[in-house]
Amino acid sequence: MFDEIKPLSEWGLGIKRPFIIAGPCSCETEEQITETALRLKDSGITALRAGIWKPRTRPGMFEGIGKEGLGWLVSAGKASGLPTAVEVANAQHVEDALHAGVDILWIGARTTVNPFSVQEVADSLKGVDVPVLVKNPLNPDLQLWLGGLERVYAAGIKRLGAIHRGFSSYERTEYRNKPMWELPIEMRRRHPMIPIITDPSHICGRRTMISAAAQTAFDLDFDGLMIESHRDPANAWSDADQQVTPEEVKEIVSGLVIRSSALAHDTEDALAVLRGQIDRIDNYLLELMGERMEVARRIGDVKREKGVTILQARRWDQIVRDRIEKGVQKELTDTFIAELMEAIHQESIRHQNRVMNKAD
Ligand code: PEP
Ligand code: MN
Repeated sequence: MFDEIKPLSEWGLGIKRPFIIAGPCSCETEEQITETALRLKDSGITALRAGIWKPRTRPGMFEGIGKEGLGWLVSAGKASGLPTAVEVANAQHVEDALHAGVDILWIGARTTVNPFSVQEVADSLKGVDVPVLVKNPLNPDLQLWLGGLERVYAAGIKRLGAIHRGFSSYERTEYRNKPMWELPIEMRRRHPMIPIITDPSHICGRRTMISAAAQTAFDLDFDGLMIESHRDPANAWSDADQQVTPEEVKEIVSGLVIRSSALAHDTEDALAVLRGQIDRIDNYLLELMGERMEVARRIGDVKREKGVTILQARRWDQIVRDRIEKGVQKELTDTFIAELMEAIHQESIRHQNRVMNKAD
């Protein structure tokens, strides 16, 4: 799967790494998209975006200017010398966007969750040679994201990439959509040929956080960004809090440190020693985990014999507090310790469950 995906350097349209798409969340008026595009022209970006059909969470919000805006977007692209990109969610969108001369299509997060919709879009792309980017689904499901990419790839699209835009959750966090970098990292591990660009705007939800998330994307060796930019962000008709001015895009892009993943010999040597240490420490951690689970099983034996429950809430609460306090002294974050202990506890419970419920 994915063997024939073209590297960005072969996509044409002036696309190369870093592949940076910027432009407004929504196309609002011809003046708005044209002015935004012209001000973005020299900010170091690769392509101009704008939403024409907007999948809004609640009805009654601005749902996009519709088909009419496609012509404005394409003209703004020509005026600024930038190829254009638009979100498509069904076959009609694909037909209208291609007919208007849009250069790049992307499938939004609310569409990727629905295999029927992705398949409809994929079917409408058969026999068409256009770059397509697939955003991650709203929920952190790597299989569903890959499934979307597979459907489009199977339709014959070879200029195919992924957009990491974060994952929604009920819990309130500093992010609008938690980045959960482990998902795109795992995608990269399994399918290194799929270009991945990060959308820090929808991840952060607030403009002040965007450049840090953008830098993280490049430190993880991803290939580019999608940044929402508006001529007058505060008065945008959608996603006002997260849009930046074209001048701010230029600042963000020029401030990026783009490191190479290729290792020179001396770097390789320096890393080899440290990586050896990491391997030894990890092996030691695994041995310790094995030992810890053995003790947990012995505790399970005692609990079984005495007829007491696996979960002893007070003891567990003491453990979590104590380990967080100690971890913080070692410069580990409290969230990390809490999550680590949670994972260890889950595994202990699995072991005790087996011991306590085994047949006599
Ligand atoms: C967008 O890019 O404007 C958009 C709707 O994003 P997402 O699909 O990531 O929510
Ligand atoms: Mn948006």
